[in-house]
Amino acid sequence: MSFSELGLSAKVQAAVAAAGYTEPTPIQAQAIPHVLARRDVLGIAQTGTGKTAAFTLPMITMLEEGRARARMPRTLILEPTRELAAQVEDNFVKYGVNHKLSVALLIGGVSFGDQDAKLTRGVDVLIATPGRLLDHFERGRLLLTGVELLVIDEADRMLDMGFIPDIERICKMVPFTRQTLFFTATMPPEIQRITEQFLHNPIKVEVSRAASTATTITQRLVRSGKKDFEKRDTLRALVRGADSLKNAIIFCNRKSEVATVYKSLQKHEFSVAALHGDMDQSARTAALTAFRDGKTQLLVASDVAARGLDIPDVSHVFNYDTPHHAEDYVHRIGRTGRAGRLGTAITIVTPEDTKLLSAIEKLIGQPIEWAGDAISDEEASEAKRERRGAGGRSGRSSGGRGEPRGESRGEARSETRAEPRAAEERPARRSAEPRATTRAERPERAERPARQPEAPVSRDRGSARPPASEEADMSHMPQFLLRPVTYRGK
Ligand code: ADP
Ligand code: MG
Repeated sequence: MSFSELGLSAKVQAAVAAAGYTEPTPIQAQAIPHVLARRDVLGIAQTGTGKTAAFTLPMITMLEEGRARARMPRTLILEPTRELAAQVEDNFVKYGVNHKLSVALLIGGVSFGDQDAKLTRGVDVLIATPGRLLDHFERGRLLLTGVELLVIDEADRMLDMGFIPDIERICKMVPFTRQTLFFTATMPPEIQRITEQFLHNPIKVEVSRAASTATTITQRLVRSGKKDFEKRDTLRALVRGADSLKNAIIFCNRKSEVATVYKSLQKHEFSVAALHGDMDQSARTAALTAFRDGKTQLLVASDVAARGLDIPDVSHVFNYDTPHHAEDYVHRIGRTGRAGRLGTAITIVTPEDTKLLSAIEKLIGQPIEWAGDAISDEEASEAKRERRGAGGRSGRSSGGRGEPRGESRGEARSETRAEPRAAEERPARRSAEPRATTRAERPERAERPARQPEAPVSRDRGSARPPASEEADMSHMPQFLLRPVTYRGK
């Protein structure tokens, strides 16, 4: 993918090349064409993934047509802090070198007079923190009726700083027919609500959630014999021995396994529910609700059943099976360690799984530590030899209780085929699961009691500095962040 394929103007492409960027990041590649097509866009991606250029580049392209009028900015970008606002301004300077754009900054700490003079001349782009913008507006020095495009950037930080009421006010002051671009690293319920209220049929562009969790998740491997009963023993020991286990999702590769593991855990008197593709909608909803409400502590699930579902943050993820597809590993472990909280992901590995494990370690770009003894290379090759031998006969001997390996792979695939992602996600997310405030979300608020009181202090004074990671250098970006993203109409 190159910048030339996105529909950006020649002048903008030249500026991008001059800035030294060769390839768009995933969020840029996916968002820019939709922005240029005048769609509302909801972009969800971790800090440091290049969200700024995802809106500045198409904006500069679009602003090539038309002219600004006095006191009526054509576009408005809201940023939570003056530092971030200044960074966005720098972007316009850098990518707008071939343009004569008029850009104004409305942030605290800068004299009203200078800002006002600029506004009077007319601006193409107004970058503002919410408080300062409202101050200007209330003084009657600013008209927002000419705004064609509104960007709400770093929305989750706006929330942290208590700016959501201001954002709501501003959204109501700009024309209803404007285009809106909305960027956030996370999607707490308040942010979800705002997007539903102020975006019109948005295109949702999301960079894999797991990307944001890598540093807060403790990942471990645990060896096990390959027989089903051995794996179930291993699993029970892991659940019983887990440190501060609040709740856990146990992932299996096949839906038949989901059923078996579920029954086994039930028999051993664990508090458990199951979620797999063969369950009807009401059974799934019931299982999920019970899990969310804390009535069941464990949820046994298949990848396909869990994908796209809004399952609350869990303390532990157990991979009963090493996933067949390395990407599934990333999705699975991303169910824990969200929003900066600590999580644990433990994967059960048998000698037969070492190849799958290598693929995972390659994808995430790091080895995963073993808890206890590792599986040796000899054991792995022994398993490989056995499998080959078994393949020559009927294939029965390798799968424990009469479930040959080959068949298991086939089934994993057939489940994927039977339940395409999109079909799985939509009904579950929209209708069957009202988000409301689940129990798992409340502690998050409790952890941040300072949010509201903090707001007046931090507003526009730059006292809330962006974390160091805000200026993240792309060269340190984890490999899997650079992989393709999913996007779909909401
Ligand atoms: P975000 O808003 O997602 O946190 P930024 O837009 O601030 O991320 O970008 C993070 C860093 O990545 C910045 O230093 C920026 O210059 C750099 N960057 C953005 N796009 C690209 C690209 N296509 N190639 C290389 N670096 C990029
Ligand atoms: Mg940003």
